[in-house]
Amino acid sequence: METFGHVIDGREEQSESAESFTSIDPYTGEPWAQFPVGGATEVDRAVAAARRAFAEGPWPRMTRAERKRIIHRFADLIEAHAEELALADTRDMGKPVTQSKGNDVPRTADNFRFFADHAAITPAETLPMDSGHHAYTRYEPAGVVAAVAPWNFPMMLESWKVAPALAWGNTVVLKPAEDSPASATILARLAIEAGLPPGVFNVVHGFGPDSAGEALTRHPDVDRITFTGESTTGRVIAAAAAANLTPVSLELGGKGANVVFDDADIDNAVAWSIRAVFTNAGQVCLAGSRLYVHQSIHDEFVARLVAAAEAMVVGDPKEPVTQIGPLSSKTHYDKVRSYFDSIEEAGGKIVTGSLDDGLIVRPTVVIGLPADAPHQREEIFGPILTVTPFDTEADVIRTVNDSPYGLNAMLFSENLSRAHRVAAQLNVGTVWVNCFFIRDLRAPFGGVGDSGVGREGGSFSREFFTEPKAVVMQIDQAP
Ligand code: NAD
Repeated sequence: METFGHVIDGREEQSESAESFTSIDPYTGEPWAQFPVGGATEVDRAVAAARRAFAEGPWPRMTRAERKRIIHRFADLIEAHAEELALADTRDMGKPVTQSKGNDVPRTADNFRFFADHAAITPAETLPMDSGHHAYTRYEPAGVVAAVAPWNFPMMLESWKVAPALAWGNTVVLKPAEDSPASATILARLAIEAGLPPGVFNVVHGFGPDSAGEALTRHPDVDRITFTGESTTGRVIAAAAAANLTPVSLELGGKGANVVFDDADIDNAVAWSIRAVFTNAGQVCLAGSRLYVHQSIHDEFVARLVAAAEAMVVGDPKEPVTQIGPLSSKTHYDKVRSYFDSIEEAGGKIVTGSLDDGLIVRPTVVIGLPADAPHQREEIFGPILTVTPFDTEADVIRTVNDSPYGLNAMLFSENLSRAHRVAAQLNVGTVWVNCFFIRDLRAPFGGVGDSGVGREGGSFSREFFTEPKAVVMQIDQAP
């Protein structure tokens, strides 16, 4: 079994208590790696190290070009260690290696490069004033950033937080999810190798409540909290942040709606709909898990979906042909299974899909569920797609918006006016038209309602990870 540690102040170490936990490969059911359980002691030490590095160390004082050079070196090392990083996530949480290596590693490296470049070149506002003064804005690093991450895109979502925080001159304490801890330690090892000074990027392992997660988010010496995870956890973390008046960014759950109009390019809509809900076995906050299809094409569309779902290769995530692996853990499998088992009782019909050994749920397509079924309203976070016919544009907009979540929606239509008109009326953070999951890192990312608070990405990340300071200068002599 491999052993991983916390990384605090540039050193990899175990917990003072010597308490540990193991990560179980969800496909084999075997433990494969061991991690220390961090608590208040380790969090205190990591926050103190990050504070020292911020207050006294070179990182916030470097030129942006110097930081950029080091972060680029870090990104190069991430790519050089693609296999190791990808296998770590795949063993921890069962994601097919084609996705961890083909998508998550390159996007992790891209996040570091993008934010390093963005911080180095983004101009700040200068405001000429009529009074003979001018004002300008300085974006000062905020300080110590606490980052708490989920298990579904481990390294990629960690980098989405750590990269902008570092690029803007902050120091970081990261608490990775207990179901996917390995890649965080590997990232921190690579950061040291890339030349990040000690204390700039720290990792503390552990759980949420009464453990490292809670200790970190309640810590009074933290200047920003960035969290991605469940909406219920987001509420707890928002309350912890409120006690210290710490600014917090929350990227939470979703129930992505996918709308296919009768004027859609059907081949394109089928291909993206399948990808939207079955990528990473549906364990995606953005998953297009509720699909609304115009009634005139509903039956044909369902038949096409079923054929595509049944053609997917399900099995060992370490095999390069595999498209759907196991769910991330037994606990999570049991949750998804309870939704699967209650489909018929809720009025639905399973057109394709089944439960297999090895924590696998085969791609499942369900029709006939009423709008108020839990499967249509709650985040299942598994490969279960509900399909519902709709009649008019107004009806489907109302249905999509009738959700506690508002992270994203997809719409498929070849009618340009309709696409813009509908996109404008959906209460979500991102609308994809005729596609899914395509990202421009400059664009705002986040959700409304139970899907989160705040936006990250490009200058939105700058607003969160810095303290904008106004400087007002007199140019002319006072009269
Ligand atoms: P989770 O909320 O259970 O855990 C996320 C992290 O929070 C873990 O590191 C956990 O240890 C920590 N945590 C749990 N309780 C805590 C507490 N009381 N205090 C401090 N930390 C605590 O979420 P998960 O199951 O790991 O991830 C899946 C969820 O994440 C889904 O709801 C999914 O939609 C959401 N998600 C959202 C986005 C987005 O960008 N909006 C992206 C990916 C995942």
